[in-house]
Amino acid sequence: MEVIENLEDNLEKIKKEIDKDNLVIFPTETVYGIGANALRSSSVNKIFEVKTRALNNPLIVHLKDKSEIKKYAYVSNEIEQRLIDAFMPGPFTIVLKKKDIIPNCVTANLDTVGIRIPINPIANRFLEYVKVPIAAPSANISSRPSGTKVSDIKDEFEGKVNYIIDGGESKIGLESTVVKVIDNIPTILRPGFITKEDIEEVIGVCNVSSHVLSEIKETEKVESPGMLYKHYAPKTKCLLVYSDDINKLKKIIKDNLVDKTIILGSDKLNDINCYKYVNYGNSLEEIAHNIFSKLRECDKLNGDLIIIEGVKKEGLGLAIMNRLIRTSNFNYKEL
Ligand code: AMP
Ligand code: MG
Repeated sequence: MEVIENLEDNLEKIKKEIDKDNLVIFPTETVYGIGANALRSSSVNKIFEVKTRALNNPLIVHLKDKSEIKKYAYVSNEIEQRLIDAFMPGPFTIVLKKKDIIPNCVTANLDTVGIRIPINPIANRFLEYVKVPIAAPSANISSRPSGTKVSDIKDEFEGKVNYIIDGGESKIGLESTVVKVIDNIPTILRPGFITKEDIEEVIGVCNVSSHVLSEIKETEKVESPGMLYKHYAPKTKCLLVYSDDINKLKKIIKDNLVDKTIILGSDKLNDINCYKYVNYGNSLEEIAHNIFSKLRECDKLNGDLIIIEGVKKEGLGLAIMNRLIRTSNFNYKEL
């Protein structure tokens, strides 16, 4: 895999790769994406193959700017338009009724399509130059932590993808907020950096799908199929713990220590005696930014268990907990 450090000098090469129906990994402000020409099934199918992604998990289509949205989807009401005006470009995906030009494999046969316009300048230059919409999920093998760092991604896709455009570490570190307007109310299907509170400020109301923090049975109807699957997980078993009382938090951890326990958390846990302690930062922004690469780092320490410190499920904390609950396969204790 070639790491492209200077996109300007390599634009033609990257465009040819996309035109050949091959995949290109590119940076965005949320996480890295593994992209293909969204208008060609032969390209899009490669994403599912290389990631071993379930075919019923739809992809988000990335566009260069707002004027493109109407080529691929219908903006059907005023709420959708106001969300687009307020949050795009940015770490925000809107689910809209799709136009026929988008192949069914992109949307896993749904009649809607997720649309995102990144704000990262490298992503924008790439999208502008290739002149086609780019279907892209996160750059990781399915079920693994999302790719936020070139070195992590290279390990995973070496030999399978020819080019990765280097944009440094992903600024936000968590995937976009996915929103669908249902009965005229914005509904968060997957939380992200744009929070429920941010949306309420603009629209006045915002619902959060009940599946954001709960396990979904395969038979249940889900609005966001991505939430069905094992996700964001290292190979080592994980336990997620939370209490807003530090003494209670330490008690849960001590009660669950095994032989080789790795603790992944903030400064306040650095004095617990355990096999290894990994710091993930202290503010919600730092934790979001670090979490996926720190999970990969923990995995390399060959422990028996990773105990992960949870956060309050508010603001950006909701997005962090949505990911960590899945990382730990719903193995979650709160006191
Ligand atoms: P990722 O695999 O990180 O790109 O995540 C994409 C997320 O967006 C998954 O949770 C998908 O289920 C969700 N998504 C994409 N397209 C749609 C759609 N048309 N309707 C509902 N959810 C969608
Ligand atoms: Mg993903």
